[in-house]
Amino acid sequence: MAPCTGFSIARFFPAITRKLYKHQHRQFYQRCRIASMHMSENLDSTLEKIKSSNNIFLMGCPGAGKSSVVKPLAQRLGMEMADIDDDVLEPYWNMPVSKKLAEVGDKTFLELEAQVFLEFKPVTTVVALTGSQPMNNDAMAHAKRLGVIIYLDVYENDILNRLSAMKVNRIVGFNEDANMEDILHYRRQFYEKHYDIRVICEPNDTVSSIAEKVYKAYTNFQAKSGYISTRDKSFSKISNFLNIAIQGLAPDGGLFVAKYAHPYMNHSQWQRLVDLPYNECALRILEQWVSTDDLHQTKLRSFVDETYAGDEFASKDVSPVIELERNQYLLELFHGPTGSFKDMALQLTAKIFNYASKMERNALKSLVLVATSGDTGGAVMNAFSRHSDNTDVIVLFPEDGISSIQKAQLTSFDHPNCKALGIKGDFDFCQSAIKSIFENKELESLYADKFGYRLSSANSINFARLLPQIVYHAFSYLLMVKHRHIPMGQLIDVCVPTGNFGNILGAYYAKYNISNRVLHKTASPAIDILKSSNLERYIFEAGKKRISTANLFNELEKHKKFEIDCKSELFQTIQQDFLTGWCSSDESLHTIKDVFRRTGYLMDPHTGVAKNVADQLSLGSEVPVVIAATAHFSKFSEAILDTFDIQKSSATSKPHDLMAKALTLSDFPKNIIVWHKM
Ligand SMILES: *Cc1c(COP(=O)(O)O)cnc(C)c1O
Repeated sequence: MAPCTGFSIARFFPAITRKLYKHQHRQFYQRCRIASMHMSENLDSTLEKIKSSNNIFLMGCPGAGKSSVVKPLAQRLGMEMADIDDDVLEPYWNMPVSKKLAEVGDKTFLELEAQVFLEFKPVTTVVALTGSQPMNNDAMAHAKRLGVIIYLDVYENDILNRLSAMKVNRIVGFNEDANMEDILHYRRQFYEKHYDIRVICEPNDTVSSIAEKVYKAYTNFQAKSGYISTRDKSFSKISNFLNIAIQGLAPDGGLFVAKYAHPYMNHSQWQRLVDLPYNECALRILEQWVSTDDLHQTKLRSFVDETYAGDEFASKDVSPVIELERNQYLLELFHGPTGSFKDMALQLTAKIFNYASKMERNALKSLVLVATSGDTGGAVMNAFSRHSDNTDVIVLFPEDGISSIQKAQLTSFDHPNCKALGIKGDFDFCQSAIKSIFENKELESLYADKFGYRLSSANSINFARLLPQIVYHAFSYLLMVKHRHIPMGQLIDVCVPTGNFGNILGAYYAKYNISNRVLHKTASPAIDILKSSNLERYIFEAGKKRISTANLFNELEKHKKFEIDCKSELFQTIQQDFLTGWCSSDESLHTIKDVFRRTGYLMDPHTGVAKNVADQLSLGSEVPVVIAATAHFSKFSEAILDTFDIQKSSATSKPHDLMAKALTLSDFPKNIIVWHKM
């Protein structure tokens, strides 16, 4: 029995009476009684209290290092420690676990193991679970009531190596002809189901480096994630994720940003994500941004799987990366149901939004108001009509400012909860009309009292919309590594046609996540947005929370500009993070034609801008560049047909005829667009 930090089994386990430990035993028993009395008084607050007794359960495969990590971790945190195998099961059964297993067989063993565990009531203890306990739901529900479950997600080769050096006769499911890899694969589903916090280990991680990672993950969890407004000078008002998902804009007019340090993974940890499909990567990235208390990984996982592992996106990679020409790659973000990159996030955002609004006490219905310059409207209607059952959508679009295909997409959308309204005016007019509705407190209470609606927004000022945009930038990097275009850790550039600065901000956050990335943005004339909302988030982050974002952006509102001193640290940072460029509409179309003639690849006009600017800046000459392809070319069929001087007879002036004609230009797979009838 390890005497370290005064731990003794009898203290934790009243069923075991050993004279030596009698005294501690009684003490512990009292603590247990107190806990169970609270339990009957008020289940919720007791759960909180017990949770705050801060037990940590380490979970993972046999050979993941749970039992070894317990000791350094408990010491570091000043907590007790316990190993279920050695300190609980063996003393209870009074025989080695392997013997019990051989005696009763796998199935009965799992039941007996759980029975014993249910009597175990640790307090402030780091506990190493056995590898098989997660296969029993009752056992895991018990652990969950008593603390947080931390999953040591260890590199499989490391486990296999360790196991070959260990005695494996105490592994459930193991017999002469069992293949250890199969056992581990089978087991993984149970670990994936039960954890609160995942710790991604690196190849060749040592006991102390794993303990360090767990320590960090746990202390981060305790600090809790939280969001503050870019304009809150004291950073005092902290909101949770579900809250900001429905609020959209902060009440003080600022944008919500994460209060605490952004998640970070090193190259070896990223390497472990390289072979995973999109949904699994999305889960591993997003769960680091969203507190498990707020949106538990099991919920997040179901949303992410439904969104990215079904047939919602027409490419199996969801957002495939293709090689355009030497050292220039395209990240195709248009394989979703409405053919623009907006689907990438919104299909998930709608699910989160729906969940968040149902968790609220005053269950008002939501009315999402959207101003669109073409693509957002369709993507919002598509996503919310399908994934949210308590939300209505109204879209305002500039009647003469969008392509005929986009217009057809909006006006033919047939769903009782969605309406698109053409406005005689430009995008900025639509945007300010909506803004004035949001700012009108009388209207707000009218909607709430008379119709039971809360007004909301779903554009990229909403952090729940921005977050999924981090994933595809990171994923594109992983695909580049997977296809051996670059080694892990190699610098790349990212070139994004930008309007509201949302897509590029996703790349910026991904840069924090995959260290050392350099980014470039380009202007996009097709998106006529003068004031890029998300710039405020970037300035806030780049200014390291030291400069007053509130002052700058108030100045912008008053004087239509603000200035940053070119000698300031902020200015230097901006210059390191971004390069900018622009081109005219004609130049973009010329680029499209030129690229098509040379490579056979047909781009949309936004992607054309990015490609044009990438060439102006010689991107791809030193480090590879990934250009974001933000829409499918057929959404802009008129422009494309014009570019190639293809006659549009009157018979082809209907949107879907135009589209059909444009699609004949390229042998691009035509089934990718699953649009609604037009
Ligand atoms: C919305 C959009 C953009 C601009 O994206 P932001 O996140 O607003 O910068 C670029 N290209 C296309 C095709 C779009 O629909």
